[in-house]
Formats: sequence, C-alpha cells, structure tokens
Amino acid sequence: MSILVVGSVAFDRITTPFGTADRCLGGSATYFAVAASFFAPVNLVAVVGDDFTAEDAAIFKGRNINLDGLQKVKGAKTFFWAGEYGYDLNVAKTRETQLNVFADFKPQLNDVQRDSEVIFLANIDPDLQMDVLRQCRKPRIVALDTMNYWISAKKEALTHAFQNVDLIVINEAEVRQFTQEANLVKGCRQILALGARTLVIKRGEYGVLMITREAVFAVPAYPLENVFDPTGAGDTFAGGFLGYLASCRENDDRELRRAIIFGSVLASFTVEKFSLDRLREITLTDVQERYRAFRTLTHFEDFEV
Ligand code: AMP
Repeated sequence: MSILVVGSVAFDRITTPFGTADRCLGGSATYFAVAASFFAPVNLVAVVGDDFTAEDAAIFKGRNINLDGLQKVKGAKTFFWAGEYGYDLNVAKTRETQLNVFADFKPQLNDVQRDSEVIFLANIDPDLQMDVLRQCRKPRIVALDTMNYWISAKKEALTHAFQNVDLIVINEAEVRQFTQEANLVKGCRQILALGARTLVIKRGEYGVLMITREAVFAVPAYPLENVFDPTGAGDTFAGGFLGYLASCRENDDRELRRAIIFGSVLASFTVEKFSLDRLREITLTDVQERYRAFRTLTHFEDFEV
C-alpha cells in the first residue's frame, strides 16, 4: 500500500547538553518519509522556500519517496524551528518557531496522492489535517499526530479530527492535557471513546504504549549508550510503524505489535546523531539487525503460573 504524509519539512536549530546544530534538516514529514520509505512507497506533501537547496533535498533521493508534492515557494523561507533539551531529553522546549512558507500552506492533492491507502497527518493545524483527509479517496488507515499547541489553541477542531481517524499517535503529556485526566489509561479510554481504534502513546526513553479497545501492548525504548538528539524520534517512530503496516497484507493485532517494534527500531537510530544524520546512513539490514536485538531484549521464557 502507498503512504501519504502531509507535514513540515524544516530547518531546525537544536541545542542539547551535548552540543548545538544550526540550520540542520528537520520537519515532521522529513523524518516520517525517510523512515516509512524503508518499507513502502511514500508520497510527500509539504512546502519549502527557495533557501532549500538540492543538497538539502538529497536526503529524499534514492529512496521510495515521490516528491511531486514538495512545493517550492519563490522568495520565501523554509519553516524554522529552534528547540532545546536539558539532561531530560524527553522534554523539548520550543525556543523559536518561524512559520515562513508554512503560514499559507494549503495542500491540494493530485490524483496519485489522493489514492494513497495509508495517510499520516503529521503535526499541523487540525483543520488542515481534515482538509487533506477530505481530499483522499479510499484510505485504509488514517493516522494523525498533534502537539500541545493545537490542544490549547484548537481543541474543538482537534476533537473533530480525533473523531475521524483510525489511529492517533500522541505523547503522554498530550493525553493528560487533552483529557484533563491524571491517569494515563483512563485518559486513553476517553480519547478512544471519540472513535479511533488505536492509540499509540509515545513515552520518550520509556518506550511506547499501544492501547486499543481490546488490548494494551507496551514496549521499552531500545537501551542506547549514546543518545544525542531526540528531535524527530516521534515522527520517525510513526514512519517505521505505518511504513511497516503499509507493507503488510493484514493489519491485525499481531502485525500492529510488530509495527510498534519497527517504529521503535527506526526511532532508536534517529536519536543516535543530530538531525537525520544517522537515519541517512543506515540500511534495511541495520534495521533488521536491530529488530532482532529488540526481540532478544523483550523475550522471556513463558511458564505456567
Ligand atoms: P518530534 O521531535 O518528533 O516531535 O518532531 C520534531 C520536528 O517537528 C522538528 O524537526 C521540527 O522542525 C518540527 N516541528 C516543530 N514544531 C512544529 C510545528 N509547530 N509544526 C510543524 N512542525 C514542527
């Protein structure tokens, strides 16, 4: 199945306790597309300015990513985000956001994009997310991501979006903020009651929790000695997760669980270097090798209790 992602392609300035990277490539759609393209063809829909060079675009080359939807606006600048992390790498502080070309972003999908079967509405204005979804013809899986900003600025529109998707990828703090419920499981039930079948809760270095109406599945994050930059981990996770699902015939609980592991594997690479530097250099063999290591990490012998 082919995938559509609509989101940001950006330049970031990242500050962590281990260093700073300025004007490095970022954006939710960038991380997502690169990760998902390991498994399935991706249609990328995003906008950049004319400061976005061929060298920047090289990240997408040689991968299964269709760039017909990557619009370039003359005389304008690419979306810019500056973020900072302390020693607790789970918490990103936004230092600056310059919307630039993103301010007037109103994606019009072409026929190929509209026929994509797996849709990822990355973190953008929930009204825009629904506008994109309305243009899609026969989506089999629709997933969305969001952030604290939209929960406070556009709660009603976001609630409407939650009612119209199959799968929500969200972090722990956002569940609490949206539901005003301290208990995570209760908060998740409230969100699921709006209509989605599956909730995937990103918990940073603590891993991921997947909650459906029938089951709960939890995995740890892959334990790494070198974590440099958590930026993009969530979007990379979503890319690995939906990319794998798009490559499957079935989307049953078994495959959903495998997809969670592939998402976690991809995200574990992203955080090892700044920006997409690590993601850029890995191959499918590296992904498969870490998938096996992940299996060993979580395996235990069953016995009757
Ligand atoms: P993540 O760490 O997975 O939440 O994603 C980080 C990426 O999201 C960065 O590369 C940013 O460029 C991008 N980003 C940050 N804020 C926004 C925003 N308001 N809208 C769209 N993309 C954003």
